[in-house]
Amino acid sequence: MIGALELRELREEFPALNQKVHGLPLAYLDNAASSLTPRSVIAALVHFYEHDRANVHRGLHTLSMRATQRYEDARSKVAQWFGVTPETCIFTSGTTHAMNILANSFAMRGHDIVVSESEHHANIASWQVHNPNQSFHVIPFDEEKGYVFNTLDVPSESLLSIQSVANGTGAMLPFEKIYEYVSPRISILDMAQSVAHGPTDFYENKFTYGTLSAHKMYGPTGIGALLCQDENALNALRPLMGGGDMIDRVSFRETSFAKGVARLEAGTPAIANAIGFGAAVDFMKELDWAKLRAHENALLTYADEQLSLVPGLHIFGRSLKRQGVLSFVLEGTHTSDVATLLDRFGIAVRTGHHCAQPLMESLGVSGTLRASFAFYNSIEEVDRLKKALVKISKMLRA
Ligand code: PLP
Repeated sequence: MIGALELRELREEFPALNQKVHGLPLAYLDNAASSLTPRSVIAALVHFYEHDRANVHRGLHTLSMRATQRYEDARSKVAQWFGVTPETCIFTSGTTHAMNILANSFAMRGHDIVVSESEHHANIASWQVHNPNQSFHVIPFDEEKGYVFNTLDVPSESLLSIQSVANGTGAMLPFEKIYEYVSPRISILDMAQSVAHGPTDFYENKFTYGTLSAHKMYGPTGIGALLCQDENALNALRPLMGGGDMIDRVSFRETSFAKGVARLEAGTPAIANAIGFGAAVDFMKELDWAKLRAHENALLTYADEQLSLVPGLHIFGRSLKRQGVLSFVLEGTHTSDVATLLDRFGIAVRTGHHCAQPLMESLGVSGTLRASFAFYNSIEEVDRLKKALVKISKMLRA
């Protein structure tokens, strides 16, 4: 675990933590939905708006050149963090946008698409938007057995599109096992839920594409990335949007497109947010992730032990190794009632289907409560959550 002093210092970097909600100190346990933002990222955003505020690319004046430099520097930082080159790191508005670029590129190409039952809707609905007849080979999730493979029958020309960590349960996907059953031609890793927990090189480059959102890794909202394993993977993508910056020559007869990542980044990008994303990477680089991961794991184990002592509380996803997320229901109560009452105790959790309705259906629930942890959370916050749940359980089940 991180010592009390070190934890206090880390928490001081996150101004949003220093507030009361309904008169009680905020316990922010909704990190899987969005992590908080450190001072250095906020400062980078403010600096851009105060000093370098101009549009990027093609501007010959000083501010535009500075903005371009900072935007491209941010791309280099993000690319380096994930182990790809800047030439194959596309800025998107987030995971969902990245998934839609991929679906727009591949959904109509007749691949057999393999997904897990716990996918986020971004990895289901995006394929259906781009191909209304899209069918899937689904790796089922079973509460007792974890992901089940013996019913999976996948042809060799398949496309694998899976999450690194299930946002509905926190379960880490068993990649090694998946690769025993699927030899995909194209593979996509939805990294949205793992990026907050330290460096990830999108599984040692076994994946062709990676998708992620900066707001889940201490960066701003409205920015993320689509990572491509190499330039061939980049060149296989079709532009999702046409417009400025993504063209080579335009005429009313025909238009040719720009080369490289520009082809996928039509219009004025989220410049400040990209710069903030770069600052989030700088922030993460300075941290001792072995230590922070140990702290996060200890928190999750402690939370699992403590919450399982609450009468009537059932935790999901226990058959697999989990990261950052504890998903549960409290017998005889409605999840949204519990979440609303937890807020009265100053505790922020998420409730509902977590954009994973097929998973909820397989768990036999319409939704769960989800407490999700970042390195700045503490044992005291877990204790508060447990105490509040015991009280709420008594209140609602009386
Ligand atoms: N995939 C997973 C696993 C997620 O948890 C989320 C968000 O919760 C997304 C995709 C979508 O991310 P965004 O809304 O930032 O595009």
